[in-house]
Amino acid sequence: MKYAIIIPDGAADAPIAELGNKTPLEAACKPNMDAAARNGRIGTVRTTPPDFSPGSDVCTLCLLGYDPAQYHPGRAPLEAAAMGLKLNASNWVMRCNFVTIIDGKMVDHSAGHIKDNEGRTLLQAVTEAVGNAGGVTFHPGVSYRNLMTLAGADLTKVKTTPPHDIPDQPVKNYLPRGAGAEPLLDIMNKARAVLKDHEVNLVRRQFGENQATDIWLWGQGKPKHIPSFKERYGISGAMITAVDLLRGIANLLGWKNIDVPGISSYHDTDYAAQGKYTCDALDNFDLVCCHVEAPDEASHQADFTTKIKSIEAIDEHVVGPVLKKLKTFDQWRLLIMPDHATQCATRKHHEAPVPFLITGSHGKSSIARAYTEQAAMESDLHIEAGYELMSYFLTK
Ligand SMILES: [Zn+2]
Repeated sequence: MKYAIIIPDGAADAPIAELGNKTPLEAACKPNMDAAARNGRIGTVRTTPPDFSPGSDVCTLCLLGYDPAQYHPGRAPLEAAAMGLKLNASNWVMRCNFVTIIDGKMVDHSAGHIKDNEGRTLLQAVTEAVGNAGGVTFHPGVSYRNLMTLAGADLTKVKTTPPHDIPDQPVKNYLPRGAGAEPLLDIMNKARAVLKDHEVNLVRRQFGENQATDIWLWGQGKPKHIPSFKERYGISGAMITAVDLLRGIANLLGWKNIDVPGISSYHDTDYAAQGKYTCDALDNFDLVCCHVEAPDEASHQADFTTKIKSIEAIDEHVVGPVLKKLKTFDQWRLLIMPDHATQCATRKHHEAPVPFLITGSHGKSSIARAYTEQAAMESDLHIEAGYELMSYFLTK
């Protein structure tokens, strides 16, 4: 049996007045998805468990069959997995942003999207200032996104806040807090002192760019043991995505990340290349997952026109070729669903259950309807624990 999963990120939405109260999925011309839905099964699945917010990391983990409540290791450990860092299981790992804080307010969570080389120079200075007390190690990432690992700390009771959640707000109440936060505050203070008049910042000041006044520690977690997809479901897998967090999930699942030239997170991604590489990978893997970020990015811009175009491009250049390829195998199945809804009206992810469609061997239709939110809701197939969908897809 060959399996393919296509994830049009954030494609589900609510009705939009300018579209005559249609959703982008209803407004898009997508003959391949609609035919697949009519020949297969549609329904809804809840990918955001209670007590979680609908981030792509949480929802994708759930979609791929892993209960986030049990297996989500936290933002920073996932990013560490994406970077290929091998972590000691007893160490904590945190995100370490360069940020701009002026007059006690979070002016910029990215320190003006600081350049990689500037960030590395500053992180070196911070490393020297903090020293290795407490087993602190910094790991430079792209631009402002670094990681920090800590040995011998207990951050179980520490609360932190993502800096992008508090734009222009006083940071005082959002600093690391709770029992065990003191060493983090100490590290942040030492960093502030060395960053204050650092050459890199002096130059940025001259050019009118936001300075990296501080480091901001958040998103802590410990690596968790996650059984590989092969251990759990007995088959091999591969991932195609432009998003680092999803590459991290693929690494944790023991999947191969396949690089695709021209892939991006936006509508300028090479859809046809994503489709072609998915088809080629099906020759070598039992399951191939192709994730396309573009509909989500368009929704964050409230750009429903581009969102519709991206759904149409996925239908033509990914779903079409992948269906054709799957039909060359004796037994096959295809799952199409977004990880979560993203609403153009609010520009935000939404935790409502998402519509899914399964087509292929054994997948007979209960209702012959196009692939839309409404049709999925009117089906009699509703999966509340989203992580149960995977075994349904693989076996039922
Ligand atoms: Zn997403």
